[in-house]
Amino acid sequence: MNKPVLVLNGNYQPINVCNTKRAMGLILADKAMVLENGRGVIHTVSRTFERPSVIRLVYVVRRPRSHVRLCKREILRRDEYRCQYCGREMGQLTLDHVIPRHRGGEHSWKNLVAACPQCNRRKGGRSLIKARMKLLRQPFEPRPTAQYLFGRYTGGNGVWGKYLEGW
Ligand SMILES: [Zn+2]
Repeated sequence: MNKPVLVLNGNYQPINVCNTKRAMGLILADKAMVLENGRGVIHTVSRTFERPSVIRLVYVVRRPRSHVRLCKREILRRDEYRCQYCGREMGQLTLDHVIPRHRGGEHSWKNLVAACPQCNRRKGGRSLIKARMKLLRQPFEPRPTAQYLFGRYTGGNGVWGKYLEGW
């Protein structure tokens, strides 16, 4: 029941991912319908339900424009789990403020990058020029496309692809 279910707005815009239990609740309350099953069925004493993989709300909910949350997990993901100085791919990355905070650097998408502990130590509290270090690329705020927001969920969700395209 913890399998992720893609939730589409009434206009087919992907808006959320919830678990199967929550999705079943929406369906039983006639607030959503199953678009993709593909995971077999759920039996209760009296009824059999499709186990949904994609559902669509029967109405359109208004949503503020979403954005990717600024947090370590998302920054590492944007940087493809690579140190942005030496390019090494590793599990134990840290975050580095490109312009150090004590020099007025912001805690923002454009000033935060993934850095391996060695590069982070080497750079210390210095600017890039002072530290004679270079970034692999300019840090940026990821666009909150449906693919970026929801495409990371796995678990037999090949069918999600066509619903994520173009949003
Ligand atoms: Zn490094």
